Amino acid sequence: MTLNAKVLIFFSALMGLLMVLLVAVSLYSFRQFSLYTAERHARSVAESIKVGLTESMVNGTIGKRPEFLERLNGVPGVQGVRVIRGPAVSKQFGPGLAQEATASEKENEVISRGASAFQVEERNGEQVFHAVIPYTASSLGTPNCLQCHQVAHGTVLGAVAIDIPLHEVKRQAVFTVGMVVALVLLTGAISLLLLRRLLRPLVETTRSVSTVVTQAVGGTFSGRIEQRTSDEVGEIAGHLNRLMGFLDEGISTISRRISELMGGFHPQNTGNQLVTATEMVEGLVEAAQFKQAIEEDQSKPEVYQRLARVLNDKYDFHQFSIYEVSSSKNRITPIVVDDEVNAPCRWCDQQILIDASACRVKRTGHAVNAVDFPGICTMFRNDDPTEERTHICLPMTQSGAVGCVVQMVFTPEQGQFAKLLVPFIAVYLREAGPVLEAKRLMEHLRESSLRDAMTGLYNRRFLEEYITTLVATSQRRKSPFAVLMLDLDYFKQVNDTFGHEAGDKVLKTLAEILAKSVRSSDLVVRYGGEEFLIILMDSGAEDALKIAEKIRAKVEETKVQLPGNVLQKTISIGVSEFPDDADTFWQVVKYADVALYQAKEQGRNRVLRFVPAMWQQETGSY
Ligand code: GH3
Ligand code: MG
Ligand code: MG
Repeated sequence: MTLNAKVLIFFSALMGLLMVLLVAVSLYSFRQFSLYTAERHARSVAESIKVGLTESMVNGTIGKRPEFLERLNGVPGVQGVRVIRGPAVSKQFGPGLAQEATASEKENEVISRGASAFQVEERNGEQVFHAVIPYTASSLGTPNCLQCHQVAHGTVLGAVAIDIPLHEVKRQAVFTVGMVVALVLLTGAISLLLLRRLLRPLVETTRSVSTVVTQAVGGTFSGRIEQRTSDEVGEIAGHLNRLMGFLDEGISTISRRISELMGGFHPQNTGNQLVTATEMVEGLVEAAQFKQAIEEDQSKPEVYQRLARVLNDKYDFHQFSIYEVSSSKNRITPIVVDDEVNAPCRWCDQQILIDASACRVKRTGHAVNAVDFPGICTMFRNDDPTEERTHICLPMTQSGAVGCVVQMVFTPEQGQFAKLLVPFIAVYLREAGPVLEAKRLMEHLRESSLRDAMTGLYNRRFLEEYITTLVATSQRRKSPFAVLMLDLDYFKQVNDTFGHEAGDKVLKTLAEILAKSVRSSDLVVRYGGEEFLIILMDSGAEDALKIAEKIRAKVEETKVQLPGNVLQKTISIGVSEFPDDADTFWQVVKYADVALYQAKEQGRNRVLRFVPAMWQQETGSY
């Protein structure tokens, strides 16, 4: 119930009660007063009649008393005047006139007891005050009653019955009470108006406070209250306005700063500034936690998988692709597709895999939004005939170039909701970009430090790092491995005759031959300048000799095209076996080298298996 309604009800109840009390008291007082006045009036009239009758008795005109009473009835305010003859008078002077006999029990009682009787009666629809007042014989007054009446002092001689009409009094009473009621109503109405006027600022301020606070609860802090007075009510309005201003500015600043952090993203007006700001802060905090987590991840695949978890679990995208872009090779590789690691490309034309610039995001560096611009990317594919789909693709920037593309696929109905999530996902991508780049760089650095730059083969450093694993694996599986030591024959001549570049070309050609001649599980190492080492896994010397021979023959028949010349070189190879020849890796390498030395000694372009005699010959020769 409103304050106004409460005041109105309270005031009306108070006025009503006051009015009832006033009317009741007025009516009661009026009645008492009119009865008192009527009694006095009746007694005065009775006394006058007594005087008149006594005079008539003295003057001998008592027989004219009906005319006297008739005249008396004409007096305003008096009516129905009747004289009643008591038994003592009747006994002495006869019964008198017919109307002078007692007419009611009441009159008999008055005559017999000598006490007056008064009562209000209804006469012809009007109220009258009916009085019956006795006349008592007295020896004290003048004239002395007992001179004529043969009765004792105190005997009731008769009585007079008088009716005093009350309608005039009643009219006055009604008029007065009416005036009282009117005055009370008027005073009440004026007081109510004044009170409401006095309460208006309080009521309106209270209403405004309620509206403004309700808006604030709903997340709108722009509401203000009109400061109507300078009293406490006005102060409340002022304080609340300052509080709202503070909140409004605070939340706006927070939202603006968050939006800056989110790359200028302006959230849709959800109607609740506070809820929107909170959601954005939560999004940023989660993205920061995500960044911390991926920084601690060991490798790129872990980061990609964590990103996939965000898309799948947090944002409920179950159809998506995470592509890695290799700018140098103009290639795109699908890393995670529909939450499956290393799955084939599913939502794009395969062309993008061999020509990265076919991907619109890679080419432009901007997001591709097919929700608002259907068909914007011609490379999008949906092979599911049962359901229409659309997509949004976002770039992940690394050093100013697109390093990754994240593609989210969904139905057109989900499009508007997906659009709302884009800024949040973009924050994740912004956080992940530098981290992935750092990891990519680290992997590249590590890879390059373990590979020979010219041939792309593993270098000696890699071999040194790898030996422990290699030997442990071989011993655990009780499986031998063979070591091939290779050296180009008369290579120095190439440099001397055709120049260093021609020598490099020969080395690269040889490296390609070596890499192609072995299994992927085998290891080809550039061991020195034009010396190479091959480790053939799970191979004994016999198998190794066959492969070495194949390599030798291949090198021999390979023609290296030089500007203006064609070159053919030969190679010598020494072969040893772990653990048959020796139980340490470096000793086995040494033996392969010894065999190579022997191959050179025996005329080059040949493969030789190490035999202990070679070692004796070697050591003996030192
Ligand atoms: P041999 O049959 O006895 O092995 O004769 P060789 O001429 O091959 O003799 P040696 O193994 O001593 O010669 C190695 C030469 O390889 C010396 C060096 O100039 C050359 N060489 C080493 N590394 C490179 C390289 O990276 N590029 C080029 N072009 N030449 C290199
Ligand atoms: Mg050499
Ligand atoms: Mg050589």
